Amino acid sequence: MHNGLDHLFQPLSLRGKTLKNRIFSTGHMAVMLDDGKPSKRMAAYHGAKAQGGAALTIIEAARVHPSGDSGRPAIRAYDKACIPGYAHLAEACQPHGCLVFAQLTHPGREMTLAADGTHPVAYAPSAIPNERFHVMPRQISLRLIDDIIEGFAISSAHIREAGLDGIELVASHGYLLGQFLNPNVNQRNDAYGGNKEKRLQFLLDAIAATRHGAGENMIIGVRLSGEEKDHDGLALDEMLEICTVLDGNSNLDYFNVTVGTSAGLAGSTHIVPPMAYEAAYTLPIAAAIKSRVSKPIFVAGRINQPQLAEQAIKSGQADMCGMTRALISDPQMPAKAQRGDLDDIRACVACNQACIGHMLNAYAISCIQHPETGRELEFGQLTSATTRKRVLVVGGGPAGMKASSIAAMRGHQVVLYDANPVLGGQVNLAQLLPGRAEFGGVITNLKRECEQSGVTIHLNTRVTTTLIEEGNPDIVIIATGATPYQPSITGAEEAHVVSAWEVLQGKANVGRRAVVADWRCDWVGLGLAERMALDGCHVRLAVNGMVAGQTIPQYARDAWLGKLHKLGVEIIPHVRLFGIDAEDAYFQHTLNGEPVILNEVDTLVTALGHAPDTALENALEGLGIPYHVIGDCLSPRTVEEAIYEGLKIAATL
Ligand SMILES: Cc1cc2nc3c(=O)[nH]c(=O)nc-3n(C[C@H](O)[C@H](O)[C@H](O)COP(=O)(O)OP(=O)(O)OC[C@H]3O[C@@H](n4cnc5c(N)ncnc54)[C@H](O)[C@@H]3O)c2cc1C
Ligand code: SF4
Repeated sequence: MHNGLDHLFQPLSLRGKTLKNRIFSTGHMAVMLDDGKPSKRMAAYHGAKAQGGAALTIIEAARVHPSGDSGRPAIRAYDKACIPGYAHLAEACQPHGCLVFAQLTHPGREMTLAADGTHPVAYAPSAIPNERFHVMPRQISLRLIDDIIEGFAISSAHIREAGLDGIELVASHGYLLGQFLNPNVNQRNDAYGGNKEKRLQFLLDAIAATRHGAGENMIIGVRLSGEEKDHDGLALDEMLEICTVLDGNSNLDYFNVTVGTSAGLAGSTHIVPPMAYEAAYTLPIAAAIKSRVSKPIFVAGRINQPQLAEQAIKSGQADMCGMTRALISDPQMPAKAQRGDLDDIRACVACNQACIGHMLNAYAISCIQHPETGRELEFGQLTSATTRKRVLVVGGGPAGMKASSIAAMRGHQVVLYDANPVLGGQVNLAQLLPGRAEFGGVITNLKRECEQSGVTIHLNTRVTTTLIEEGNPDIVIIATGATPYQPSITGAEEAHVVSAWEVLQGKANVGRRAVVADWRCDWVGLGLAERMALDGCHVRLAVNGMVAGQTIPQYARDAWLGKLHKLGVEIIPHVRLFGIDAEDAYFQHTLNGEPVILNEVDTLVTALGHAPDTALENALEGLGIPYHVIGDCLSPRTVEEAIYEGLKIAATL
């Protein structure tokens, strides 16, 4: 039973191989390498998606030549040492009927620091600087071009030997293959530049070399940005012409369409689009390319639900849907969709925190909602409890809900209490920030998991030591969260000072001119500033950091900063709150201690982080009742740690 998803579960044939449905995982850095080679952890990570029913998983971009090596770890496909690791990936996925492709790339001028912390020499078609990484590349020589082309052939032969099903060339996102296509970056006047045909030559040579190394049986595709969406990026009309030429290339089997470029901050937010962008917003671009070519079109870009993917396939906009984060958040998504259990899918909320957010900080990717992802070797197979215990969980925020559902799933008898009339804790506030309603999906998903595992839930009930003693549980899990941190502020009694929570709850009138004192530099300051500016207030966002949103992932922050600039929000960096009076707010520059005075302030909004709610923990101490403390009441952080700590404790009970 497909529950109206018949097109999504139609197979697709490519070069004699079968993709069993239309759901695939796009290539993405998982940060699970073992010295440039795919690791067992990585095989388990991709294996989970294969086991969950994906038709294809594309392994992250691998380097074809040492001139593309940087400190950002990547598979060295040019080195035959990669073969056993790729073979493990094939063994983990193919038995589930899931095809496995490798991606081949060279970063060109998109070069980060080298592994030893120095600035490596970056190569590009021409010596034109990169805005995002502040790199001036060296013009690539014809000899190095030949070497890199040979690298495609050598790497492809390694991948074929490992037993993978296909290879995708990364000509998207402004990396070297894409740089050659772009007249703003490729200003050569030789066989590889000067006109449209010559700018395509490098990609054509790379495709031919890949086919040479891969042989006739492997599928070969090319990933392209239909629009690079940056100031000197490629536009759709240029890409349509490129695709029309490539469509006639018999070595090529499919196009994989995305948008964005690594070259600038604006373009790079599209590499992994945050929830600020509409779901499936890339489909019209894929459809425009599809209307020009005969080869199948793969597409990705916030396709977060199988119903959307079904619509994309049914309407003929694309042939395969990349649902990478949807699979990170719920590797079982395809199987659940195929069974018709749509409400059981743990939908990705596009927060970009533990997936791409981890990757950008060089940590293994995971999911805030499903910390089991990326930790399959540890949490992939949770065992049933040997003794059924009575577990009392205090607090129905993310930490308490995750602990409850996992403990109940393992066979414990779990009762969850929350003082509020609804579950979700602070996420109820987080979803009130403008453009962040989707974040509330965290509550919907966890509620479903609690229901399914048989957790008994009591709302409107504040837990006291008496209630615990009467309940006589074997174990108590304290997940009482946090409340706004409110230090005493000099002059506050003369001024109008309100907390971020009060503004979000609609309990405070901020007047016409507000200052937000933003210590934590996260979603709260950015979102409050936007909310108040949209309501017509003049907003100054005074941040105790280098940039507003400093502590949140770049791919969640940057689109937001662009929006705040348009709304006229003034951002004042490097300031700590000092005091307030009836008219002015006083800050101190964090670098030189000088005063920074903001005049004509109606309201000071404090976004100074959170303080742990330790009341119950303090009361329980010494009573002899065993308990564990998790989430924000242990230390105020984010949903990610709250849910992960819920998992960890419940897995051991
Ligand atoms: C505006 C805002 C935006 C945010 N945005 C993000 C974001 O985008 N991403 C992110 O990762 N994090 C975000 N956070 C932080 C995140 O929401 C918290 O880190 C997370 O909710 C902590 O989860 P928790 O379960 O530990 O605690 P909480 O969410 O605080 O939940 C604790 C629960 O315990 C209940 N409780 C307390 N005492 C008792 C008692 N004695 N008896 C019964 N119940 C009790 C409370 O009613 C509450 O429901 C945001 C927070 C705010 C305020
Ligand atoms: S961390 Fe957020 S964006 Fe990433 S997969 Fe999970 S829910 Fe989606």
